[in-house]
Amino acid sequence: MSTDVTYSRKRYISVCVGCDLLFETVRKDQVTCSGACRVKAHRNGALKALNAHAKAFKVPRCGIGFSRAIGLLRPDLRKQVASGEVDMIDIMPDLCDAFDELARQVLEHVMQERNESGDANHQLRV
Ligand SMILES: [Zn+2]
Repeated sequence: MSTDVTYSRKRYISVCVGCDLLFETVRKDQVTCSGACRVKAHRNGALKALNAHAKAFKVPRCGIGFSRAIGLLRPDLRKQVASGEVDMIDIMPDLCDAFDELARQVLEHVMQERNESGDANHQLRV
C-alpha cells in the first residue's frame, strides 16, 4: 500500500435549508445535510424559496448556504465576500478550520459536562 498519496479531499461548510444547522459536505452543490432534510425542505417549500432567492440574487443555490455559514463561523470575512474582494470558495479552508474549531469546543464542553455529572452512561451524539 502506498503511503505517499496526497490527501486533498474538498470540503464545504454550509447551512442546511432543511434544519438550519451547519453541515459539512464534499459536494459543492449540496444544500441539505441529509435525505430527510431534502424531503422536508421539498415538502415545506424551503427548497422552492431557496431557488427563488438564488434566482433573484443571481447566485448559485449553494452560495446561500455558504454565505450563512460564513456569517455564523467567520462574520469577519462577510464584508470581503459581499464586496467581491474574496471568493467564498477561496475562503472555504478558513471556514473548515472555524467549523473544526467549533466542533472541538462542543466536544470539549460535552466531555467536561460528562465529567462533572459523573454520568458514565451519557453518550455523545454527533
Ligand atoms: Zn438538515
